Amino acid sequence: MNILFVASELFPIVKTGGLADVVGSLPLALRQLGDDVRVMLPAYRGVADHVVWPDVWVPFGDPLGVGEVRIGLTKPTSVLPPVYLVDCPALFDREGGPYLDLAGGAWADNHVRFALLARAAAMLCEIGPIVDWRPDVVHAHDWHAGLVPAYLALRAGHRPATVFTIHNLSYTGNFPSSVLPAVGLPRECFTMAGVEFHGELSFMKAGLNYSDHITTVSQTYAKEILKEAQGYGFAGLLQSRRGELTGIVNGIDNEIWDPATDCHIEAPFDARRLDRKSKNKTVLQREMGLLEQDGPLFGVISRLSSQKGLDLVLKTLDAAIAAGAQWVILGSGEPELETAFLAAARKFPDSLAVRVVYDEALAHRIQAGADVLVVPSRFEPCGLTQLYAQRYGTLPLVRRTGGLADTVVDVAEGAPGTGFVFNDADAAALNFTLQCAIELFGNRRKWRTIQRHAMKQDFGWRVPASQYRELYRILIENRATALSE
Ligand code: ADP
Repeated sequence: MNILFVASELFPIVKTGGLADVVGSLPLALRQLGDDVRVMLPAYRGVADHVVWPDVWVPFGDPLGVGEVRIGLTKPTSVLPPVYLVDCPALFDREGGPYLDLAGGAWADNHVRFALLARAAAMLCEIGPIVDWRPDVVHAHDWHAGLVPAYLALRAGHRPATVFTIHNLSYTGNFPSSVLPAVGLPRECFTMAGVEFHGELSFMKAGLNYSDHITTVSQTYAKEILKEAQGYGFAGLLQSRRGELTGIVNGIDNEIWDPATDCHIEAPFDARRLDRKSKNKTVLQREMGLLEQDGPLFGVISRLSSQKGLDLVLKTLDAAIAAGAQWVILGSGEPELETAFLAAARKFPDSLAVRVVYDEALAHRIQAGADVLVVPSRFEPCGLTQLYAQRYGTLPLVRRTGGLADTVVDVAEGAPGTGFVFNDADAAALNFTLQCAIELFGNRRKWRTIQRHAMKQDFGWRVPASQYRELYRILIENRATALSE
């Protein structure tokens, strides 16, 4: 099968969260199963540092009237699938992040930037003879690629099957209806059954309405988004498409996240050499300026956003510290949360270290050195850090929601379980569970048993990749049937 992924992030080229990890690793897993999977990505500034810049570029003209566009294909490597770079310097060659400028504001032309990405993907499906490769399936990820299924569905003739994956429904990609002509959509699709969402144009809605199939990244989240509370206004639409909505839990790249071979950590270890994990803890305590003490070390590696429930951590960290625990927090995002965590760190210099940065290597060192990874999310489509944690023998402490509910078994419910799970999104519930973890940490034998059990879990892509393949196969068959009718 030929499969084209379209996404705004791809690890290790550009990453702000889990989307990049998935788009970086699922294509590699599918390629190992024999499929020709390629990814389409904007040629942001800095991409050239990660790939060999293509020699050959195919001109795509100026489809949205914002600047000349060309497409180049990079060579696959052991860590990257082939990538179609969408080069449009007017939109992508700038200092800043994929979505935000240096001051932290959304790029004012994000609608055109991601419409162009989608348009390039749709054009690639048409331009078979020039690009010499035609996808059987186009797999679009999150709102940034939401217009791909729309562009493909709105034109006549042969088209590939389309899959749209919701990685996070709360980011809806909404823009004023006045941008409709700028993104090249006809007025007719500005309806409830098209791209209209509360009077605005929603890229997310385009993906949901025009794709052949919708997936999301865990079974529990697939159910949660059918309800008003977590549907972000799309619950009704999703209910009407529930026959074409599948939850597939994300996998992880077992090579990048392997404590036995991790080049970012001081003392590589595995389930048989768990005593070496404590060396990583000492090194982390030293690096973070924490007292080298024996109590449990709680880690947080997260975007600082209200979704992640970290305001609850702010309310509970002193009680945990009083009970002998320490904290290492790595994250950036909402300024109020950043300020509050930095202030707390000043209050507890021996027991709480905060780093307000994005630091991939430090994320690995925390996974290796912490005893518990805390993920108290209000909602969590899948979550990856709790999966990495289990592989590193770091017990996840999570709220029972979305993918967290699907991937962590509470020590009180499982035999022996893989972590700690609490139900209510409030400080009392989190505090209770933190205290349980602190108490259990005192029973080193039991703790080891749970660690080993967590490390045995297989969160690799083998199973989820085969589920995606099966879905692609069915959709290709359906397309063929539709064409022959
Ligand atoms: P989300 O996609 O909602 O941000 P996930 O748990 O799915 O959450 O994925 C988060 C990814 O981003 C993980 O790979 C995690 O290690 C990484 N990450 C988050 N914040 C940071 C940070 N400040 N520094 C380094 N890595 C981070």
